[in-house]
Amino acid sequence: MPTQPRFRRVTRVGPVQVGTYYDGRGREKHAAACTAPRCGFSTDFDSRAAAELAARTHRCSAR
Ligand SMILES: [Zn+2]
Repeated sequence: MPTQPRFRRVTRVGPVQVGTYYDGRGREKHAAACTAPRCGFSTDFDSRAAAELAARTHRCSAR
């Protein structure tokens, strides 16, 4: 996964990282991104809870 220096409060749920960042308009956004090399799972969410839920329910195909 590419480095995301703007991420704050990064946590890991299994292979998935959840990070909070601000979009171009200064609004909080939340991303869930899998760190497995061949997975490519990466999704943005409006709420931290939704991002963490997606991370917890992610079924990694690269494992
Ligand atoms: Zn994955």
